[in-house]
Amino acid sequence: MNFSQVKGNREVVRTLVSMVDSGRIPHAVMFHEEDGGEAFPLCLALLSYLYCRNRAHSDSCSQCPSCNRIDKLIHPDVHFIFPTASSALTGQYMAQLRGLVSEKLPFTEDDVCSAFGIEGKRQIIAVGEARHLLDSLSVTALEGGYRSVVIYLPEKMNAEAANRLLKIVEEPPQLTLFLMITHHPEQVLQTISSRCLHIQVERAGTVGPAVTFQSPELFDALMDALCSRDLLSCHEAADRLSALPSREDAKAFCKFAAYRLRHIFLAQQGLPLPPDAGAQVARWAPLCRKSFPRNALGVLDRASRMLDLNVNVKILFADMADKLFLYI
Ligand SMILES: [Zn+2]
Repeated sequence: MNFSQVKGNREVVRTLVSMVDSGRIPHAVMFHEEDGGEAFPLCLALLSYLYCRNRAHSDSCSQCPSCNRIDKLIHPDVHFIFPTASSALTGQYMAQLRGLVSEKLPFTEDDVCSAFGIEGKRQIIAVGEARHLLDSLSVTALEGGYRSVVIYLPEKMNAEAANRLLKIVEEPPQLTLFLMITHHPEQVLQTISSRCLHIQVERAGTVGPAVTFQSPELFDALMDALCSRDLLSCHEAADRLSALPSREDAKAFCKFAAYRLRHIFLAQQGLPLPPDAGAQVARWAPLCRKSFPRNALGVLDRASRMLDLNVNVKILFADMADKLFLYI
């Protein structure tokens, strides 16, 4: 995978190329993307460029032994950490991961689960993975250059794993590069997040379903009411939501609202926003508590699951409005 094969994201590619060319490579980069985005291909292209022996025209050659090994996920100095079920290490799934990458790029979270055969199971990055990584990083790079670690979905780390990893990210061994890919930046341990350079990866062309909703003004009305601490208007907004034509529309609202709440979180943290974030985000962000996006995402996630259970939509949205009002 080289940069020319990455869809869209030319600005991100330029940033990554100049990082390597100038030799000013941060020790931890966190890519933000929607599920199914270009972040993993970008990581592979960056690693190929970093390790390539015949770089030319701001790209890797795709032919030298280093490029080949990175494409096949067999480079001895590049480690991968993916969420698995229970305490199994990513190393046990490398054959499946290689198969997936050779067949489908970009992939989605569901693609990874089905490749690993862990559909429907709780996915975590357990402490054993961090321990194993520490051991791997304690030996010198086998090829004498950079050692790299790609962590897919650092938000799935349990507290023990995150704290152990934090120690390495805080004081990384020389020539170590962490590349993390998050779909839920608000769930990543703040102390890890604060040590990363954050890069927003854009949706490219037909990759992944765009997070859209037919009546975005309903979300705006709800947020305006919340930010004005106007409970009556919150309930009016909730009433309008309960009048949506179908449960599918109600679920689409929850998904859309979660997408927008994540933008509020990013704005509050001073992190880069995607171009479709909308101008209101900057207005809302300072009017919400710092804990609001995370709490509100929990409320929406629950509402979305309740919609599958045939609950009364009017009561559900009224309850949601009350909870959001408490958290704002
Ligand atoms: Zn090469």
